[in-house]
Amino acid sequence: MSVPEHVAVQFKDLAFSYPGQPQRALENIALSIAAGEHVAILGRTGCGKSTLLQLLTRAWDPQQGEIRLNDMMLSDVDEATLRSLISMVPQRVHLFSATLRDNLLLAAPQASDETLSAMLTRVGLEKLLDDGGLNAWLGEGGRQLSGGELRRLAIARALLHDAPLVLLDEPTEGLDAETESQVLELLREEMKDKTLLMVTHRLRGLAFFDRIIVMDNGQIIEQGNHAAL
Ligand code: ATP
Ligand code: MG
Repeated sequence: MSVPEHVAVQFKDLAFSYPGQPQRALENIALSIAAGEHVAILGRTGCGKSTLLQLLTRAWDPQQGEIRLNDMMLSDVDEATLRSLISMVPQRVHLFSATLRDNLLLAAPQASDETLSAMLTRVGLEKLLDDGGLNAWLGEGGRQLSGGELRRLAIARALLHDAPLVLLDEPTEGLDAETESQVLELLREEMKDKTLLMVTHRLRGLAFFDRIIVMDNGQIIEQGNHAAL
């Protein structure tokens, strides 16, 4: 499969329950997102925001309805193509017990050390290079990262991966206001031509999104732009 440069996303009458769970985590989801559109997803804890993003990565299969990326059924996309299509910052970021370099290379195996260092600087993590550079050992037996550092490492990974569809699950959680502004600014720059779905609890920066979706109880209850909501 060839990897398209731009990706539109469509959810049609989607319903999903986690295995063994009687209640639905998502219900009646009908949503069309244009290629290049930037969408913020808001809603109370437990309303299904992360689940919606995870279905796009095919972590789970919906029991009802369908998901399309452009004219492809998500279920028909092969693994390698799917990986090239999507960059994701999950809500719980995983740090590998490995060097700083390897923690970044898994997103972009071809990237040079210069590219990796430059990206760390762009996300404000240049101080991770002070002690051992890209060879610094992270995770077990090495340096643990703070919550905010871990989120920025994941953002660096996602940006290095450079896929046309970007899914960010609370990327600025745990960042102070100034760092958050910097990260949002960086994302705005880097996401210009990409389709972006970003889950957030924060109201900061919402004016820059084309559309805001509000979820409750597994459903979309409101949508519009910042001025309308
Ligand atoms: P938060 O803002 O707290 O991150 P969320 O909107 O992302 O919440 P989800 O993580 O999508 O919420 O969860 C939606 C519902 O599905 C919740 O009721 C949650 O308990 C349930 N749920 C999430 N993951 C699983 C799982 N792996 N197995 C069973 N139930 C799950
Ligand atoms: Mg969540």
